[in-house]
Amino acid sequence: MLNNSKKGQAFILSAPAGTGKTTLVERLTAEFPGIVRSISYTTRKQRGGEQEGKDYHFVSFQEFEHKINRGDFVEYAEVFGNFYGTDKASVGRLLDQGLDAVLVIDTQGALEIKPFFKGVYIFMGPPSIEELEKRLRERKTDSHDDIELRLSWAQKELQQAPHYDYNIINCNLEKTYNVLKSIFIAEKYKLKK
Ligand code: 5GP
Repeated sequence: MLNNSKKGQAFILSAPAGTGKTTLVERLTAEFPGIVRSISYTTRKQRGGEQEGKDYHFVSFQEFEHKINRGDFVEYAEVFGNFYGTDKASVGRLLDQGLDAVLVIDTQGALEIKPFFKGVYIFMGPPSIEELEKRLRERKTDSHDDIELRLSWAQKELQQAPHYDYNIINCNLEKTYNVLKSIFIAEKYKLKK
């Protein structure tokens, strides 16, 4: 990555389920070895194809609670009945190594840390709720009830978009990727952070 500072930067990305964020972040980290995704802890069950330590650290509720009590998390939130949290020490290690860390977290977690956690806050939304519904049905990973739940939660998340530094609407994957990439590059060159 074109880098002019020693310490890495944090990029906080929130996007409703089905917006395409996973694909975009995978592409970004593959193109730029200096950008790494922070791996969250979750109590959610591992889905088929997901790998421990790559997608998430999958832990029991007791382990998660233990980490909360020890103050391990920068933030944590309950999303769709499961807990998700960002490990303070892991993110700190990435930044200290000069790597840029992408934190893919929901709007509750992102807006909770925004007042004290330095970073670039990016919100990515779908072109419309109808389009999001179509994408969620097409990806076939969620039940009918899950889709309904995700859609109603997405409506709430969309209202939080104005609180972010950047808003991207993912109408076209290629274009969105270029916008996302441009934000990362421009932020590296910003003098006042
Ligand atoms: P999924 O279960 O579909 O992977 O993720 C569900 C939601 O949890 C997504 O909106 C995702 O961004 C969010 N999420 C993932 N990791 C974290 C985290 O560490 N903290 C918070 N607050 N949300 C997270």
